[in-house]
Amino acid sequence: MRRIPRVLLAFLVSASLPLVADPLVVKCGKLLDPATKGVKTNAVVAIDGRGVVAAPAAGAKVLDLSAYVCLPGLIDAHTHLLLQGDATAAEYDEQVLKESTPYRALRAAAAGKIALDHGFTTVRDLGTEGAGFTDVDLKKAFALGILPGPRVVASGPAMGTTGSYPLLGFSWERKMPDGVLKCDGADDCRKAVRYQVQYGVDWIKLYADRSYYRTPDGGWASIANYTPEEIGAIVDEAHRLRKKVASHSMTPTGHRASLAAGVDSIEHGDVLDDETVKTMAARKIPYCPTITVLDFVRGPRSKTNPVWEELWKASEESFRKAHRAGVPIAFGTDAGGFDWDKRKQAEEFSFMVAHGMTPWEAIRAATTVAADLLGPSADGKLGCLDPGCAADLVAVAGDPLANVKVLEDVKAVVAAGKVIKTPR
Ligand SMILES: [Zn+2]
Repeated sequence: MRRIPRVLLAFLVSASLPLVADPLVVKCGKLLDPATKGVKTNAVVAIDGRGVVAAPAAGAKVLDLSAYVCLPGLIDAHTHLLLQGDATAAEYDEQVLKESTPYRALRAAAAGKIALDHGFTTVRDLGTEGAGFTDVDLKKAFALGILPGPRVVASGPAMGTTGSYPLLGFSWERKMPDGVLKCDGADDCRKAVRYQVQYGVDWIKLYADRSYYRTPDGGWASIANYTPEEIGAIVDEAHRLRKKVASHSMTPTGHRASLAAGVDSIEHGDVLDDETVKTMAARKIPYCPTITVLDFVRGPRSKTNPVWEELWKASEESFRKAHRAGVPIAFGTDAGGFDWDKRKQAEEFSFMVAHGMTPWEAIRAATTVAADLLGPSADGKLGCLDPGCAADLVAVAGDPLANVKVLEDVKAVVAAGKVIKTPR
């Protein structure tokens, strides 16, 4: 084991940089390059420390994946590590009320291990659901190799307004915990952004709308959670502090408010009307469709509210429309909204292809497009395997360009230069 000077260790902790792994050479039967849509045969990826380099170092270990197809580590741009499935409100309330934050952190660490073993070497975690900044702690623990887990882009508690987000429906005499950080009024919201940045978030996540319904003319609407002044203050303050903003926005009501305020990504976007699609395409604002979670919750939730089956139908139409118009579509599953061990994040690939994408486009959504959304990591560019890119690599048996389902069974994983999983 390499000795790390105490001073350097202190720096690593504060910057949350992963430990430096030994030099490695990965031999791939085929190597997919999402940026160029190129496929190389018998390719070699040289890794030194955390990044990909041009030539292998002398004495580098060899990982032989010549029987497999390699591609850059997958990115899930919408997860909740601190959540373990909430198809119903009762399941959500139970986790927030009955489970301590330390217990939830242990479950989240297990979720992170599942994500990594399944080839998701980076996740953007969009809200801890009442567990404060535990995702920032997980990010640090994973990066330092204390526990195995993906690179985490953290957003801390996420933001809502009074009355807009669970826990709801309890007696007014009880002081219930909040699933988000609430703010009311532009100044309060600005302060809430500063507070989150103080504790290490990479992104600001806000909930733009709630209570989705059909309008008499057959359209869709919802309640906008913030006034234009409030949401404007959040986005302005986040950008001033060089953080981007992800907006949970399901219907045109939320999209109007979010896009006018200048958010950087739309989350879910189940009902994208023509005006929204036009704006997003023109300004290249990406969205994470989170199809897998909608498929997971629509059955149980429709029992009490039929709107969820209607949202399912609308979301496919929205996806096709956005795809045709050239809206950037980033891979995001909302894992945690479904139990990490009940559904697979990589199911999203099949849904994307079923909704009109080519396999290449679906793979690019989880690499190139998601990487553009997140920006470079401290250890290099994400979603690629050229020199200068972070050393995140996965391998599958079979050709994902012929059948994206093979991505649901990742055989080998290298994350930040470290071998996590090898073929049996
Ligand atoms: Zn979510």
